[in-house]
Amino acid sequence: MKKSENTWKEGFHLHMRGMKVLNEFCPGRFKVLILRQAVETAAPYVGIYLSALIINELAGLRRPEELWRLVLISLVSAAVIGIGTTLVRHWDEYNSDKRFERITTIFADKLLSMDYAHIDSAEHRAKLNQIKENRNWSMWGLEIAELITGQFFAGLFGILSAAVLTVSLFTSRMPAETAGKLVVLNNPLFIIVIIGALTLTAFLGPVCKNKSNSYFTKFTEETKFGNRIGNFSFVAEDSKKAADVRIYNQQKIIRYYLEYDNTFYPGGPVAKCAAGPMGLWQALGSGISAVLTGFIYLFVCLKAWGGAFGVGSVTQYVGAVTALSANLGSLIWAFGNIKNNMPFMKNVFEFLDVPNKMYKGSLTTEKRSDRQYQVEFKDVSFKYPDSDLWSLRHVNMKFKVGSRLAVVGENGSGKTTFIKLLCRLYDPTEGEILLNGIDIRKYNYDDYMSIFSVVFQDFKLLSQPLGCNVAGAVSYDKDRVLKALNDAGFGERLKTMPEGLDTCIYKEFSKEGVDVSGGEAQKIAIARALYKDAPFIILDEPTAALDPIAEAEIYSKFNEISGDRTAIYISHRLSSCKFCDEIAVFDNGSVVQKGSHEQLLSDESGKYYALWNAQAQYYTEKK
Ligand code: ADP
Repeated sequence: MKKSENTWKEGFHLHMRGMKVLNEFCPGRFKVLILRQAVETAAPYVGIYLSALIINELAGLRRPEELWRLVLISLVSAAVIGIGTTLVRHWDEYNSDKRFERITTIFADKLLSMDYAHIDSAEHRAKLNQIKENRNWSMWGLEIAELITGQFFAGLFGILSAAVLTVSLFTSRMPAETAGKLVVLNNPLFIIVIIGALTLTAFLGPVCKNKSNSYFTKFTEETKFGNRIGNFSFVAEDSKKAADVRIYNQQKIIRYYLEYDNTFYPGGPVAKCAAGPMGLWQALGSGISAVLTGFIYLFVCLKAWGGAFGVGSVTQYVGAVTALSANLGSLIWAFGNIKNNMPFMKNVFEFLDVPNKMYKGSLTTEKRSDRQYQVEFKDVSFKYPDSDLWSLRHVNMKFKVGSRLAVVGENGSGKTTFIKLLCRLYDPTEGEILLNGIDIRKYNYDDYMSIFSVVFQDFKLLSQPLGCNVAGAVSYDKDRVLKALNDAGFGERLKTMPEGLDTCIYKEFSKEGVDVSGGEAQKIAIARALYKDAPFIILDEPTAALDPIAEAEIYSKFNEISGDRTAIYISHRLSSCKFCDEIAVFDNGSVVQKGSHEQLLSDESGKYYALWNAQAQYYTEKK
């Protein structure tokens, strides 16, 4: 008993919190929702009441002036209520249509504000996937929470309105002379019997239906796999994967899974349950409601027969009782689903409540016009959050401002990890990184981030106009964007673009969009880094699409345009970086050598010498 009390309390708490979060994204949303429910549920009762008055008048005194008055009131109220409910409904629907975007924005904002390490973490990815799957699976989570609120208020207002109209059913008494034996129905005991029947009608039916719906929650785990397969079947839609799917005939794998998994098909667990207990509870609910409603109708008709009220009042009570049970149904649906939706809401808040662990200080990095920044790695070691292996080990490094630093080493030696730590996407597991002698954790995070421009190896462009891609904003300085594109070597290609800077990259947003090659995309990404005009500019190894010679050309051009910025180049191809002032050689997560190209090459026992000779065939071909 105690356990279930706690459960309800928790369910309410979670839903109230959900409403608060949703309301923050659309202030006033719930006022409109509640107003709609009040107007829509009360409106039919006005019609029922006025119709009953007209019928009673027709069947009774038949006074023409009273009939005209009632008809006029009915017409005017029907028109006013009709216009009012339509306006409020559209106002609410407009807000409600934005529900999908609002909820998507809530998760997008969380993703953008959470520690980068969390985004990488398998545990948090799984949580987010689960939330998405629950949304697809029947809007469980925040979406259904909004519907529950609507139904809750619909039920509440409806019950209040129906109660007002049914009071006289109990207070009007049958005259002994017309009622005969039926006079027994005047006994106050019948009030209790009928209220009992009303309560049972209202509760038992919906309770059975809720029991039926509760089976949905039990399927969360079973349907996880089915949902994932459903998403997997869209793999051929992804233009980046479509070519591989065709060449390797991968549709066989997709089909295998679709045929193998019967979660949502006849014979599957969901279908079996729908035909079994779910269906039985639904049928029982409908049956109980029908029998008890019939019993109440009988009572109303017998009281009318005995002369307690006129035929018009019969329509009033029958209408009110019917609406009452529907409204109680809404209320119980809402209560039941507060419980059913609870595990899904827990899921939502487990993700939204993931705490950020990174310490973020408040020091400013001072926007120095002389770009005098000095960075030092002091005995830095690092393990990725889900890994037991050291990706960096005891890295010590200092680099001067305005210099050209190259980070070279074989794939997997720790070069990209080094950059990710430098930009504070992760914090070191051991050791510290200093900017102008101060631990970078003490700086304001956004401020610190703003001093870096990075072209990551796996950079992504947005399916947006070229200018927006470069500027990272919808409105931008056109001349600066053009200069950045020209400096990055994209000038000639830009001339062929139909709408210049307004040309959409890729086709997802516009059918006039332009597909760009890997090399062209990289130039746009370099232009984006230049436009940001940060004191540090970093070029992670260009995509594998570039041959060593093209890569070396990009690097030397990049050197030219980097100007007084501190430039860091990463590559596993040594020839690309030999112009740099200092080269750091990474091996197995450690810096094993440092120096200029000539100094490093003169050490014949060193890693650099070995790597250079292993790669020499590429460069001799050029000569
Ligand atoms: P490089 O840039 O030199 O190719 P990386 O810095 O990408 O090397 O990787 C260094 C090591 O860290 C590798 O052993 C790699 O497998 C591991 N690593 C890279 N990214 C992750 C990650 N997100 N989670 C766990 N290990 C990772």
